[in-house]
Order: sequence, then C-alpha cells, then structure tokens
Amino acid sequence: MNAIQNALIIGAGIAGCSAAIALAQRGVEVTLVEKQSEWRFQSSGIFVYSNGLAALHQLGVLDGILQAGFAVDDGKNIYLDHWGEPITDVYYPRGPQGEPPIVGIKRAEMHRVLAEQLQRLDVSIRLGLTVASLQTGSATARAKARFSDDSHGEYDLVLGADGIRSQVRNMVFGNIQPRSTGFGVWRSVHRRPADLDKKIMQMGIGKRLGIMPISDDRLYIFGTVPETPNSWYEPQHWPDLMREKFRDFQGPARQFLDEIGPDSEVLYTLVEEVACPPPWHRGRVLIIGDAAHASTPFMGQGGAMAIEDAVVLGKLVTSEEPINTLMTRFESQRYPVCKFVQDASRRVGEAGAMEDPESCEARNANMRQNAQQQVDDFYHTLERLRV
Ligand SMILES: Cc1cc2nc3c(=O)[nH]c(=O)nc-3n(C[C@H](O)[C@H](O)[C@H](O)COP(=O)(O)OP(=O)(O)OC[C@H]3O[C@@H](n4cnc5c(N)ncnc54)[C@H](O)[C@@H]3O)c2cc1C
Repeated sequence: MNAIQNALIIGAGIAGCSAAIALAQRGVEVTLVEKQSEWRFQSSGIFVYSNGLAALHQLGVLDGILQAGFAVDDGKNIYLDHWGEPITDVYYPRGPQGEPPIVGIKRAEMHRVLAEQLQRLDVSIRLGLTVASLQTGSATARAKARFSDDSHGEYDLVLGADGIRSQVRNMVFGNIQPRSTGFGVWRSVHRRPADLDKKIMQMGIGKRLGIMPISDDRLYIFGTVPETPNSWYEPQHWPDLMREKFRDFQGPARQFLDEIGPDSEVLYTLVEEVACPPPWHRGRVLIIGDAAHASTPFMGQGGAMAIEDAVVLGKLVTSEEPINTLMTRFESQRYPVCKFVQDASRRVGEAGAMEDPESCEARNANMRQNAQQQVDDFYHTLERLRV
C-alpha cells in the first residue's frame, strides 16, 4: 500500500496545482488550500520550454496548454541588439515526446487549464484559506494542520507550495527570506501582429527586452533592468516608467513600447531568489516550487522547475518506502537540477546587465560564437542531472 494516502497542499500556484494533479493521478486524496479568495492569477505571460512542457504532458494537460498558448514550433529565438540589429539566432530543442521547444501562454490561461484537470481529478480546493499552525509529524505520526477558519486535518504528506515568501518554509525552517538580485522585471501585454511568431530578445546596454507570443492574438514584452534592492513604484506610474526605462530600445520592441498607456496591462516585479539548500522537509512537511528554490526569471525556468517537482513527487508517492526516504530521494533528485538552473539563470541576468558599451559589444560577439552551444549545453546538463 502507498505510504501516502492523503495530502495537504498549501498554495495553488503552478507548483501546488501541478503537485495536486500528480498526486491525485496516483490515487492520493488531495486537499489544496489557497489564500486568495478567488481563482485569480497575474495577467501577464509566461513561457515554458520543452522540459516544462514534457512535465505538463505527464500531468495530462499539454493539449490544453497548446490550445490556449502559442508554440514556437522551430524553437527559434532571435537575438537583436537594442537598435534591432541582428546578433544571432538560437534554436531550442524539442522535448523527449516531441513536445514543442517553447510555448508562451497567459498565466491566467495556464491556471485555467490546470484547474480543469484538478476538477476532473476531483481534487478538493479550498479558497480563502491558509494554515494557522502545523505539526510536522514523524515516521509514525501524521502531520496536523490547523487552518485560518479553525478547521483542522491530519495528513500523510503536507506540501508547502506557497511561493517565494512561503509561510510554510518560515513555520518549519525559521526565517529564510528571499534575497534581492538587483534586477527588476517590467512586463506588458499587447495585440500580436500575425507575422510576429518567434521569441525575440533584444540585448541593450544594462537592459534586456524580450517579446513572446502568448496566443493567436496576444504577445507580451518583458524587460529586465538593474534596480536597487527593495525599489518599489506605485502601480499607477508603471506604464510611464516602463516606457521610460526602455526608451533606448528601437527595432521590434519600439511599436509595443509606444503603445503602452494608462490602460495597459503593465506589471513590475522585483527579482528575488531563494537560497535554501536541502533538507526541504521536516517530518512529513516538504517545500516545493519557489518556496524551496525560486530562481531569477532570465532562463524562463522557474515554472518548469515547479512542474518537474510535481512529476518527480508523483512518481515517488507510489513507493512503499518510509516517508523520510521518500523526501530525501525527492531532494537528491531535484536540488542539483534546481541549483544548476538558479546559477545559470543568474549568470544570464548578469550578462544582460553589463552597462558599458564595450563589454556589451564583447558579449554580443561572444553570443555570435557561442550562444547555440550554450543552449545545447544547458539542455544536455539538465538531462544528465535529471537521471
Ligand atoms: C518576472 C517573472 C517572470 C517569470 N517568467 C517565467 C517564465 O517565463 N517561465 C517560467 O517557467 N517561470 C517564470 N517565472 C518563475 C515562475 O513564475 C515561478 O517559478 C512559479 O510561478 C513558481 O510557482 P509556485 O507555485 O512555486 O509559486 P507561486 O506561483 O508564487 O504560487 C504560490 C501560491 O501560493 C499562494 N499562497 C501564498 N502564501 C500562501 C499561504 N500562506 N497559504 C495559502 N496559499 C498561499 C499564492 O497566493 C499563490 O497562489 C517568472 C518569475 C518572475 C518573477
């Protein structure tokens, strides 16, 4: 019999929804609690590379994601400088079952697709709820949770999937705060011209700006700039600030920057990451996704790592091994992969933040020579670490 009969998952983001699907697919009785009182997620886009799509495939939601999103079927990523002059083209690989190299999708659409699968699997979802206290349990005793509405439950497994500022992480491991990386990300959603059907990255001086289709009629642009730690701006100023921060950018980005106005869907996020080496568990409580290993967004891999966590966990819960062995196996499979992604992503961010024109020219020359090899090496290493 499975060691895990029932599970509580705290947080219904990408990690929590994916884990709920992976566990429910294996017959685990799942309760998913989310502190937001409505099923409401950020309106900007996200892109998912083939490794994340392969994981979504295993969760049985790939078709829905492909229908709602936009696949760049040849995996082409066009690199330009901030004037719009070509640097190089790079091709991302397809997944092991032929999954597309990259898909862009609205975050809200991704959550809709995940929610439909949760419904099909009859997962119990409780919105507007969080945990007030947790007893982590042991090899012989189940974990106990008391919720914010004073209800309570006992579980074979509790997952803290509550994101970068995880309350579960702090309850179980003490105060581990995300660290600022010195970058901010600006995003906005636009109508997609029919001929803009590839991922484009424009490498500027100290800044990068990307363009990614996310549906048949929409794309989003996302730009990163150095920001002082904790720098914050009032949301009503975001459209003006985004236009101003990327005023140097010409080429394909220009028409979208010009479009940004007071009614635009603009988001500003300060980039942080979580440095939290294992153990990621105590007793029967395990943290996953951003709660355990939030990464900078420069490789577009944080969501994929959260989905992969879920798939790995889904395979482990069918084992009859003691809970502690199962958790340790999870950590030893996932930490090397997530750490590799965190480190690679931080390096990409730093390369994009060079502020003197000569270093930028040298970076662009290096990209012409090596960018494809670097992408290939990244995916080979991911593959190797996953074994
Ligand atoms: C600017 C930016 C761009 C990114 N772009 C990409 C990209 O293109 N591709 C990609 O793969 N990744 C990307 N990422 C990373 C990706 O967004 C995250 O890795 C991913 O969302 C992590 O999912 P998660 O479920 O762990 O956390 P979250 O998405 O943060 O979800 C956590 C959930 O838990 C809920 N919650 C929080 N606290 C509690 C509580 N106490 N009780 C109950 N519920 C709670 C929250 O409301 C939320 O619903 C990006 C990140 C950033 C910052």
